[in-house]
Amino acid sequence: MSDAPVAEDVRAAAARIEGLAHRTPVLRSRTLDERVGATLFFKAETFQRTGAFKFRGAANAIARLTPEQRRLGVVAFSSGNHAQAIALAARCADVPAVIVMPNDAPAIKLEATRGYGAEVVLYDRYAEDRQAIGTRLADERGLTLIPPFDHPDIIAGQGTAALELLEETGPLDLLLAPLGGGGLLAGTALAASLLSPKCQIIGVEPEAGDDGKRSFAAGKIISIPVPATIADGAQTTALGRLTFEIIRERVTAIETATDEQLRSTMRTLATRMKLVVEPTGCLAAAAVLEGVVPVAGKRVGIILSGGNVDFGSL
Ligand SMILES: *Cc1c(COP(=O)(O)O)cnc(C)c1O
Repeated sequence: MSDAPVAEDVRAAAARIEGLAHRTPVLRSRTLDERVGATLFFKAETFQRTGAFKFRGAANAIARLTPEQRRLGVVAFSSGNHAQAIALAARCADVPAVIVMPNDAPAIKLEATRGYGAEVVLYDRYAEDRQAIGTRLADERGLTLIPPFDHPDIIAGQGTAALELLEETGPLDLLLAPLGGGGLLAGTALAASLLSPKCQIIGVEPEAGDDGKRSFAAGKIISIPVPATIADGAQTTALGRLTFEIIRERVTAIETATDEQLRSTMRTLATRMKLVVEPTGCLAAAAVLEGVVPVAGKRVGIILSGGNVDFGSL
């Protein structure tokens, strides 16, 4: 029997995180609609707390802890948006949080994570295994490990972004989401099965890290080495067991975008819509605006998953 979440879990997650996560805006652009000949709806998770949709899954997972688990605290390993999401969601719920981060993570990310009140444990990413460190901390201190994507409460929480989008737009023809480990895409597909069951769901990953596309085609999870891409939020090496199970069953296709297409999309979204979107957050938009996925005449939802750009590189 599977422990994968079901569509109703997304609705339950939405009720649980209401008032805690922001209900982010759905934005339109007449210029971009005209450019692609479609009706585009952008769900701007760039305005979510901590700057990315990951706060949704984090808040849902923490709300589901038992009183004993709450008292002992949680641990997460991540150098990116999951770390900050867990740190803030834990603080909102008065739960102690330990975040395992590489000692060469950008100072600004270390500061942000500490700023949300988490204890940061550093490790050497070339010599140590973060999963092993996280597991050891969990064992020694009784902490609950919250993984970044392959967890039923995380998947259900991430699905609330698409649920809100579809509540506003009504049924869509196509709905696209960025793909890393698959928490966002799996949750999106579950939400669509409730509110827009005929909608085609497309995941978009970096071309250099096309393990999702290959796994989808092969019907089994394929792992790759850490891909070289500017989409740092999608530098995952394999889909999760639960996320793959849902993606396989409910997703229509997986497409890819190149770094050049992501750069071009960042520029388009900044100039046309005045939006700062991080490279990973541009994946779904790039597939539409750069012509990877044909959309003419369709009603299309696009998840802009996050806006945490390093301003030096921007
Ligand atoms: C984590 C992340 C993703 C990928 O999400 P998964 O659930 O791992 O597929 C996409 N965009 C942003 C901004 C992220 O932080």
